[in-house]
Amino acid sequence: MAVLGRLLRPRTTALYTIRTFCSSYSTSSPPSSSEIAVIPPLPAFGKITDGRNVQWVFLGCPGVGKGTYASRLSKLLGVPHIATGDLVRDELSSKGPLSSQLAEIVNQGKLVSDEIIINLLSQRLEAGEAKGESGFILDGFPRTIRQAEILEGVTNIDLVINLKLREEALLAKCLGRRTCSQCGGNYNVACIDIKADDGNPAMYMPPLLPPANCASKLITRSDDTEEVVKERLRIYNEKSRPVEEFYRMRGKLLEFDLPGGIPESWTKLLQVLNLDDHEDKRSAAA
Ligand code: AMP
Repeated sequence: MAVLGRLLRPRTTALYTIRTFCSSYSTSSPPSSSEIAVIPPLPAFGKITDGRNVQWVFLGCPGVGKGTYASRLSKLLGVPHIATGDLVRDELSSKGPLSSQLAEIVNQGKLVSDEIIINLLSQRLEAGEAKGESGFILDGFPRTIRQAEILEGVTNIDLVINLKLREEALLAKCLGRRTCSQCGGNYNVACIDIKADDGNPAMYMPPLLPPANCASKLITRSDDTEEVVKERLRIYNEKSRPVEEFYRMRGKLLEFDLPGGIPESWTKLLQVLNLDDHEDKRSAAA
């Protein structure tokens, strides 16, 4: 258990000695947008009140788009985007001592043990801290109540964004996911076009196609097969859904229903977070 100790050890650095941001916005009025926000709109900010960077978490089912929005926000806010799935895949491709054990777990759609994942995350946080990183956006962690409790015990998470998308879109999005083996760019070949029914609005998510120079180099994640995605969704409901409640009870959960494709969803997310993407505006005006 020495590995867990590293994350559990009380820290005195910026990453771990911060007060809860939530308390500073818990009294403003609720949003009027279509998203069900459990917490009110956030004040405009880049850094939060005591000068440190944000410490946010993204929750949501496989395929919902955590990586897409977490990486955009991390660029906007100048904090690292740390995806535990990426840490697991890096470990797998390093062919280190853990890789065969991890390959079996990941390819079955199961969760890696809390101990292994906390060890990987702890190493990543320490390496970032040594490079002067502060703040983070976590994607794919915590995924169990135990992980959430451990994280809560060592640092204050400011905000947890729970991305939500209708179940029928999730499977299609996972099966359509592609990565360029050369540049690492992420694309999606699925075209999601769901008609309105029973009070649910229609939803259209166009494919995100690769540029010509990536098109011949696309690869699919080994755990993005129909059988494995269904198992990952089942495990999300069993092990990770309770984590939503964990943060809801602490007043940190922002529920965000994705309204459609990336441009529409990104604009709405920025609105709810009260953030401005100057880069987006510059490229739109160009
Ligand atoms: P992801 O890219 O987030 O879908 O993660 C890919 C795989 O890595 C998952 O299906 C799990 O096997 C493993 N994994 C990633 N994050 C965690 C976590 N927090 N706890 C346990 N296993 C994880």
